[in-house]
Amino acid sequence: MDRLKTKVAIVTGAALGIGRAIAIRMAEEGASVAVVDLLESDALALAAELTAAGHRARGWRCDVSDETAVARVMTEVVEHFGRLDIVVNNAGVAGVNKPTHEITEAEWDWVQAINVKGVFFCTKHAIPHLKTAGGGSIINLSSIYGLVGGADLPPYHASKGAVRLMSKTDALIYAPDRIRVNSIHPGFIWTPLVEHHLQGTDDPEAARAGTAALHPLGHMGEPDDIAWGAVYLASDEAKFITGSELVIDGGYTAR
Ligand code: NAD
Repeated sequence: MDRLKTKVAIVTGAALGIGRAIAIRMAEEGASVAVVDLLESDALALAAELTAAGHRARGWRCDVSDETAVARVMTEVVEHFGRLDIVVNNAGVAGVNKPTHEITEAEWDWVQAINVKGVFFCTKHAIPHLKTAGGGSIINLSSIYGLVGGADLPPYHASKGAVRLMSKTDALIYAPDRIRVNSIHPGFIWTPLVEHHLQGTDDPEAARAGTAALHPLGHMGEPDDIAWGAVYLASDEAKFITGSELVIDGGYTAR
């Protein structure tokens, strides 16, 4: 119930999927939650839902690839809730599913702008607030594809590899400030991102079954499987954990 009591969290990409589950679980654990997303009405609706359930939450529209917007939202969140302790860099896109030699520069850059630069901007503009709070926890959503390769989505895999090492670098830079930085590496989790990705295949039902079978546990994960990992990394239970990789993948990368 109170694992995050008195803490203030920003969750990006919190309107749908994994981010939504993280926002809900963090609020239930006592955090004040800034629900940040490009989808303004969904972000505001989730914040209203959480507030109606007796939690503290507020929604913000923000494109994480827009540095000015990110800086403004960070400031507004601290003005509204009084401090900042937790940043979950979850907003991300899959991008085009083409072989490398067919990808345009614009297609490549779009994925990096959100998945990599978005993490950079949110970290950059959160750090001063986390220092003021005397420390904090930054949680970056990488992927199994920040650990192993996959024969599809080249810009996505590159972006998630970058996020993995950005997390370790920032863990080292900000350890003296008691700011912990860790990455989470989900296997396939059933969210709108994965649903959309599989719908782009010739036989979505077969692709869904085939994707589930890639995981030794025999099925895809659900958003809460990741949300509980994020709650743990955000909490004081994880006070000695920084620069680490929390793999939550049903055994996908155990082979
Ligand atoms: P999703 O598409 O279901 O939700 C992503 C959310 O991010 C949406 O609400 C979307 O509006 C928001 N968003 C997208 N671009 C944004 C931007 N520029 N600024 C602000 N918000 C933006 O995705 P998901 O499956 O929940 O994935 C969440 C994170 O987890 C992503 O970083 C993804 O790469 C990572 N991940 C997902 C899986 C999976 O299987 N679902 C596996 C590994 C890693």
